Parts: sequence; structure tokens; C-alpha cells
Amino acid sequence: DPRLKAITEAIRVVPHFPKQGIMFQDITTLLLDHKVFKDTIDIFVDRYKDMGISIVAGVEARGFFFGPSIALAIGSKFVPLRKPRKLPGEVISEKYVLEYGSDCLEMHVGAVKPGDKAIVIDDLVATGGTLSAAISLLERGGAEVVECACVIGLSHFKDDCSVNGKPLYFLVEPR
Ligand code: 5GP
Repeated sequence: DPRLKAITEAIRVVPHFPKQGIMFQDITTLLLDHKVFKDTIDIFVDRYKDMGISIVAGVEARGFFFGPSIALAIGSKFVPLRKPRKLPGEVISEKYVLEYGSDCLEMHVGAVKPGDKAIVIDDLVATGGTLSAAISLLERGGAEVVECACVIGLSHFKDDCSVNGKPLYFLVEPR
């Protein structure tokens, strides 16, 4: 797909952010290029439009940049999966382990229902810990998780393109 080269090139790499040694993949520069941003959304929309997806779940915060546009285009709902204490209603929570410490995602009770078919969207998958927590939340709500989708995937996922037993789809590798 010739669009993928431009998507890769639109991602800015910021060395040593947020700490020494990390090559941060900054997708805000992709959002500034209308054609590349639209191509990114279109690729996901073409993939998911005829799969009977009823829920696009976006991971805070960068999953929120892509998820709603995809949801509107494929005729599904959008469900935000948020960091702790952001959602005002009753929530279910899922803790997950990070390289240093742990984090947590929350989803509103009732946001998904048994029979829903969901995809999870985020900007980048590294260890898969964040997506695993997202999958758990959706399944605890009764939804079926069809696939996880990211803009950027680390190359070690190339051999086994799955997270927690669910298919993983990503567009490009880090620069
Ligand atoms: P994982 O849980 O797969 O180890 O890490 C993925 C999460 O960390 C995603 O929510 C993603 O937004 C964030 N993340 C980690 N490294 C980067 C990076 O270099 N660039 C961006 N944009 N996000 C990152």
C-alpha cells in the first residue's frame, strides 16, 4: 500500500521523551497532514466497515484521535476507555503492569452489551499490556473483541500478530 510510506514519514521521532533512551513516536505530526490523517482513517474504515462492528473502543488518550472518526464512518458507537477517576458514572477497572509500576483503564458499566462486536484502537502497541487491559474490560462487559488496531506496532509482533489471543492489526513500524 503506497499510503503506508507517507504515514511512516509523517510520524515524528522525539529522542529521550519522556525519559532518557526512549525514542518517542509522536503521531501529532501525522494529524497535521490532512491527506495522511485521512489515509490513516480510510485504511481502518475499509478494513472494518463490513465486519458488523458495533463498538469502536478507544484507549485514552491517543486512541481518541482515531477512534471516533472510524466509528462514525463505519456506523458504530464509540466507547472511551479512560484513565482512573475520569469517568463520572459507575465503572469497571482493569489494572495492568507497565515497565515501571502499573496503570489502570476504566469503562462505564453499560457502555457495551452482550452481543456487541468490538474493535480496540490505540496509536501504538509496545508490550501489548494496554491493549490486553482494554480487551479484558470489553469482554467483562459482554462484548466480543474482534481485533485490536494500532497505527504503529513494534516489529516483534510481526511473527505473532496477536494480543491476549486476539488478532492485532497495525499499519507501520516505528521509525
Ligand atoms: P504497551 O502497553 O503496549 O506497552 O504500550 C502502549 C501504550 O503506550 C499506548 O497507549 C501508547 O499510546 C503508549 N506509548 C508507549 N510508547 C509510545 C511512543 O513512543 N509513542 C506513542 N505515541 N505512544 C507510546
